[in-house]
Amino acid sequence: MKTFCGRANPTTGAMEWLEEDENYDYHQEIARSRYADMLHDKDRNVKYYQGIRAAVSRVKERGEKAIVLDIGTGTGLLSMMAASAGADFCYAIEVFKPMANAAVKIVEKNGFSDKIKVINKHSTEVTVGPDGDMQCRANILVTELFDTELIGEGALPTYEHAHKYLVQEGCEAVPHRATVYVQLVESKRMWSWNKLFPVHVEAEDGEKIIVSPSEMENCPGVPSVCDIQLNQMPSSDFTILSDVVTMFSVDFSKPVRSASTYYRVQLEPVKSGKAQIVLSWWDIDMDPSGMINCTMAPYWVKSTSAFQWRDHWMQCVYFLPNEEPVLQGEKVYLTACRDEYSVWYKLQKARGEEENKADVCVESPVCRCQAHLLWNRPRFGELNDQNRTRQYIESLMKVLKTDSVCLCISDGSLLPVLAHYLGAKQVQYFFLCFFFLKFFKANHLEDKIKIIEARPELLTSSHLEDKKISVLVGEPFFTTSLLPWHNLYFWYARTAVTSHLTSNVTVLPQSASLHMMIVEFQDLWRIRSPCGICEGFDVQTMDDMIKNSLNFRESKEAEPHPLWEYPCKSLSDPREVLTFDFRKTVPQHCLSTEGSVNLSRKGKSHGAVLWMEYHLAADIPISTGLIQISNEKGNCEWNPHCKQAVYFFSSVIESETLSDLPSAVTYAINFNTKTGEIAMDFQL
Ligand code: SAH
Repeated sequence: MKTFCGRANPTTGAMEWLEEDENYDYHQEIARSRYADMLHDKDRNVKYYQGIRAAVSRVKERGEKAIVLDIGTGTGLLSMMAASAGADFCYAIEVFKPMANAAVKIVEKNGFSDKIKVINKHSTEVTVGPDGDMQCRANILVTELFDTELIGEGALPTYEHAHKYLVQEGCEAVPHRATVYVQLVESKRMWSWNKLFPVHVEAEDGEKIIVSPSEMENCPGVPSVCDIQLNQMPSSDFTILSDVVTMFSVDFSKPVRSASTYYRVQLEPVKSGKAQIVLSWWDIDMDPSGMINCTMAPYWVKSTSAFQWRDHWMQCVYFLPNEEPVLQGEKVYLTACRDEYSVWYKLQKARGEEENKADVCVESPVCRCQAHLLWNRPRFGELNDQNRTRQYIESLMKVLKTDSVCLCISDGSLLPVLAHYLGAKQVQYFFLCFFFLKFFKANHLEDKIKIIEARPELLTSSHLEDKKISVLVGEPFFTTSLLPWHNLYFWYARTAVTSHLTSNVTVLPQSASLHMMIVEFQDLWRIRSPCGICEGFDVQTMDDMIKNSLNFRESKEAEPHPLWEYPCKSLSDPREVLTFDFRKTVPQHCLSTEGSVNLSRKGKSHGAVLWMEYHLAADIPISTGLIQISNEKGNCEWNPHCKQAVYFFSSVIESETLSDLPSAVTYAINFNTKTGEIAMDFQL
């Protein structure tokens, strides 16, 4: 059997369906999974173990047999904990076949085959009875089905079903309860991920302001959760407006209802300001007393000694539909609405209870202004970055002439609008790639900038009203790009429109370069690092499986990560490894380089980071990666709006105790101009 996988082709910008080996899908899933990260989460594992031991004891004290239902067993870890704690029997349910197979192997290797039955089914398909998957209902329910938003992986419907059909009334549950906390904040930085701020342009005939359509004002945005490593957000980037309050909690030992509902709390602002953002996280109590607590609270809420880094559970940022001024001490109501899988928030000024109730948000947010469909959150942040805008403005001023005919190739870009305000009246603007008309209408530009809905290779002179392009601009940015160099699609598009360019065309950016640096991560290495023994259980089978899946194809590929969320220090100087000259067309031959970088700082070489820099006009560079190395220790500051490419070195991650730290890393990097992909190899 073959499967088809969607991938954007960086040479055409289009989605293509590639035929893959039948195993490909699950290798991807495993290679990029969070299983390794969970197994490294010591805090989580220890607390689950404590909670499971306590639950088994309580059942035994009642003189009952301890029958465990472990939904979503993964490696079988929690079932093995239960069996070790004295459970009489465990039903370990796992829907994902390769994982269920791994669980069987791991359970066997650890000697628990007689106590644990692995069932490869979704829990809602599991049957109970003499001929069923389970002989009888369980009296201990163990699960770990939570995501950063708690309910996004379907925990609620799974619990609802389990209480109806798979567990006894009055069962023990580990975790026993989950509680969701919220805190109201004002934050220009986070708000800039959700709204387009007015852009001020100093033009020759006075200041011009680019505005967003009025629909964006009250637009609730998209329902997908914004989950981030909130611990990387400096306290100077937000203002706390309320105390931390409990929004809602779920008791997993009682029947759970998954149907849509809402919760409301009263808040008394501790400070006056603009309520824009609800920060949220949760904790789980592993036992009824709440003594065994595992929390995702950020640094300003909990003591640092309890700190556990993890990537599988982070914190949530919710955007209120519009900003609401609040006054210190003047009460407001915060409502959390949820359906089966997601949560959203609404803030109201204190009014009569009845009036408020009538107004509850039952419908999940849908973007009405179209902007949230075009721009994702980092992209909003990038477009709102005034320094960046200033650099583009400066460059445009250098290249635009009174008689310029300008073509912009980039997705959802403000460049044509900036150019329009900066350029002389005669300048003609054409704009390739998609955008939303409402935006042009809001700025009265519908007849000033022509949107051409054609792929670059299908561009005709009639699209351009028989004119030749004298200035070709791009940020470049394309929504289909996953890795930094995928935005080189601009180069391919530039090549495709060559016949429409004047002989002395100006291309902005004039070139791009690929940069590389060797780093040691503070924590990110964990997500690709084998675990070996987890709480006394041998999970090496899982390590081997991940390694095998990485080797299936991915090991020679870099993966995208927003490094502002993942601190690292540089071990080598940053190095420019390849350059791409946009003034020329894409060459037929590949662009390759090889060399060696010296490691100037002591540390573990976890991997290489790669990013692109664009040279807008001479001397105006834009980095999508490293901004600066901030101190002697080599701590790096990264572009906060972009993902960088990370290539993990497996050799170093695997050997915890390398006696000889390497002093240099050799590399070979190859940009295949036919595919638009970059292959790389590193030797330590
Ligand atoms: N229990 C393991 C793994 C947790 S990851 C541990 O704590 O280390 C969650 C796992 O649950 C995933 O492997 C996922 O495939 C599985 N899963 C989620 N919902 C499920 C359901 N309703 N029925 C069966 N498996 C489920």
